[in-house]
Amino acid sequence: MTDPHPAAWRTAPDAAPGVGFGGSGGPAEVSFGDQVDELRTHSLEWLRDARVEAVREQRRWRMRELAIVRVLDERDAIDDSLAAADGVSVREVRAAVETARARESLPRVAAVAADGALSDGQLTAVTRLADVDSDAEWAERAPHCAPAELQRAVRARTVPTVDESRRRHAARAVWGRFDEREGAWHGGFVLPDLEGSAVMAVLEARAEQMRPAKGDAWAPLRVRLADALVESVTGHGPERPPARAHVLVHVPVTGPAEVHGVPIAHERLEQLLANASLEVEVVDGDGATVAMLPTTTLIPTRVMRAVRTHDVHCRWPGCTRTTGLEIHHLVPRSWGGTDDPNNLVVVCAPHHRQLVPHGRWALNGAPRRVGALRLVPADALLGRLGPDRSPRGAAQARGPSG
Ligand SMILES: [Zn+2]
Repeated sequence: MTDPHPAAWRTAPDAAPGVGFGGSGGPAEVSFGDQVDELRTHSLEWLRDARVEAVREQRRWRMRELAIVRVLDERDAIDDSLAAADGVSVREVRAAVETARARESLPRVAAVAADGALSDGQLTAVTRLADVDSDAEWAERAPHCAPAELQRAVRARTVPTVDESRRRHAARAVWGRFDEREGAWHGGFVLPDLEGSAVMAVLEARAEQMRPAKGDAWAPLRVRLADALVESVTGHGPERPPARAHVLVHVPVTGPAEVHGVPIAHERLEQLLANASLEVEVVDGDGATVAMLPTTTLIPTRVMRAVRTHDVHCRWPGCTRTTGLEIHHLVPRSWGGTDDPNNLVVVCAPHHRQLVPHGRWALNGAPRRVGALRLVPADALLGRLGPDRSPRGAAQARGPSG
């Protein structure tokens, strides 16, 4: 052994070339083994430097690849078949094309990347974040940011608009098909952000309650989730405490609110806030927790109680649902509405989603007078409120984002 340093990395000091690779002995393995053997003759310091250099070289080659991708893209010679050829996902190929396109407008970021200072994750995220004006700033910042941090900043840029939020909702579906050979149903669902999280939270809470008998092993989670689904839908099953959906919506000081890391539209958040219990966490500039404030609600509980006592069922015309009711602002707060009881009614969750500011409908009229509440198009309510009460969404038109 010529290595002067005690090498902690060396797990098999006497390994011969090729040994330790399961004996498969393919050409790649042998050459790797030879390389490893040669590297064993070097000092720890030399190896550390060599690793840094190898990472840099990889990144420079990645830049070369992206430059080639850019030219191929110009010639319309890139398609999804590249993914199969490279053994990567179609998404990765498309991300590479986007990154290659963005680099031309970001000379400073491109220079830092060409120098090997950015990982692929950092580069992909920063090309979506930076624009001509912020190119120099991001060139300086990006090498010191974790890719996850940059991705988070990207997401914060892309708050869904109310139209996108409606599309998410409109795409909801459940499907199932009976497989005659297996004698079993195969199926799945598409549910928007919050509803999906609520359904999964209930199923997971139920699955968590399905403890095995003492001494028995836990059934796999997928099996318990299946049992939880059947129990939830059919109502059959052993007596269990009701599983309530507890969906945590993270609302940072800047950037959009998120459910499971997925941003939700401002209009959707507004509807949620009226009904949520708020756990306020005060953080300092570095994101460290300074204080946790007592759980509270936005609308005073006595006002909520008064509204709930008056409205025994959903106030959407014709709906008589009495469970899962939510507080709804006739005139949304962002449109100038208040928490006055005369501006509040209860509606069921599915109808709440169809009402302003998220939905295309509004309930209009005096909620405490019999028969005085009407369903009108959202535009009609806006027209009545006048131009000074325009929705917050319109005022928050976002700038172009990469
Ligand atoms: Zn309803």
